[in-house]
Amino acid sequence: MTELHHLTLAELAVGLKARRFSSVELTQHFLSRIERFNPALNALITVTGEQALQAAAKADQRLASGAATPMTGLPIAHKDIFCTDGVLTTCGSKMLSNFIAPYDATVVDRLSQAGVITLGKANMDEFAMGSSNETSWYGPVKNPWDLTKVPGGSSGGSAAVVAARMAPASTGTDTGGSIRQPAALTSLTGIKPTYGRVSRYGMIAFASSLDQAGTLTLSAEDAAMMLGAMAGFDPRDSTSVDAPVPDYTASLDQPLAGLKIGLLKEFFEKGLDEANGKLVRDALKVYEALGAKLVEVSLPNLPLSVPTYYVVAPAECSSNLSRFDGVRFGYRCEKPVDLLDLYKRSRGEGFGAEVKRRIMTGTYVLSAGYYDAYYLKAQKIRRLIADDFERAFGEVDVLIGPTSPTPAFDIGAQTDDPITMYLNDIYTIGANLAGLPAMSIPCGFLGGLPVGLQIIGPHFAEAKLLNVAHRYQQETQWHKQIPAGYE
Ligand code: GLN
Repeated sequence: MTELHHLTLAELAVGLKARRFSSVELTQHFLSRIERFNPALNALITVTGEQALQAAAKADQRLASGAATPMTGLPIAHKDIFCTDGVLTTCGSKMLSNFIAPYDATVVDRLSQAGVITLGKANMDEFAMGSSNETSWYGPVKNPWDLTKVPGGSSGGSAAVVAARMAPASTGTDTGGSIRQPAALTSLTGIKPTYGRVSRYGMIAFASSLDQAGTLTLSAEDAAMMLGAMAGFDPRDSTSVDAPVPDYTASLDQPLAGLKIGLLKEFFEKGLDEANGKLVRDALKVYEALGAKLVEVSLPNLPLSVPTYYVVAPAECSSNLSRFDGVRFGYRCEKPVDLLDLYKRSRGEGFGAEVKRRIMTGTYVLSAGYYDAYYLKAQKIRRLIADDFERAFGEVDVLIGPTSPTPAFDIGAQTDDPITMYLNDIYTIGANLAGLPAMSIPCGFLGGLPVGLQIIGPHFAEAKLLNVAHRYQQETQWHKQIPAGYE
């Protein structure tokens, strides 16, 4: 029997419109799944059940009045990096463990205005720094495909909540891979739009020149629906781009005949696990059958992405996180003896080890004498990487490759080895450095664990990416698999 949690956002929207079920029933259904599964998975930090049911009742009235949008009445979860008015917003940190946001982030506001219901706030790596959700002050999130494995990060809670069908979709953010890598590790569709496409207002900053909000969903069609409701110019974000948002759902079915797919030599060459590579190649055969042409392309500077990112991102984070000083909001230490003691102990006690490592690296690379050697150099390489991509997009329409070097790994396996942990994003970071839109979609399983396929496009090519992802999902069933125990 098909149950409500088997349906995609698009299917649920049809059911709501036809009044086959109400938004209140739908919201209750997901809240009861949260009650049942969240204690073991730890995917949500806060559940906003009461507000959700009130909003659902309003959505039902709106649906009845005929003033609904395509998203009205659909419940989702928000990554706990988005400020939610009157609701605890922690960013996965002890530093914000008492922070009730006084306003909604633009992403939250736009979705609420469209009639979307917020079920709760998803667990995440502290300040979005991590690839496994293990740096969260609220503890690790378990992967519904195997409870001994990580769900990826930093949007690990956003991924687990959807993979376990506790919500049909969620929001995430991606600074170096934090939507795509968890999507890959939990068999979901994740999109990181072009830098500037979605407002960063009210999204707690990690590395401002890289951060971008996006979605984790069960299909590309759902991503198209949800992104359409989130994207667009926002005068409150100075890097938000003033360009019209196309109807992403309108072009999903476009034929792919003649599509030029670039295969990144640097992605396939070394380090890619053979079995993982085979799944990617199998996916490419599906595209060839749809009429796409494969072209090998090389981005010679791409192997420098990880070191470049680990200079730029910590530099920006050290500056962004200076606002958490124990004075204005967030955690404050007990009984400070003077102002310096207040700063030192509030930050010392409020931040976790990974966040401190990044702040220290960042202040080092920005300090006088080292700025030119590290930060300036990294900025120059970032430009070369962006130029490499631009050249490639002169030859091909999209680039396709793996999302993550391995499937989900054991909880605890990489926590003592930051470098190995950082390498989880080796395939994803390039798109952030160049500000490009990129997606991950499910393309198979290795030893029972999901594997993702990455699609990268030129700036503002979200509609093309969603079209390329959707056509693949019309031909395959990978994205429809549900982990055992959550059917
Ligand atoms: N894993 C990367 C990091 O720790 C990327 C995180 C992200 O995209 N927010 O910085």
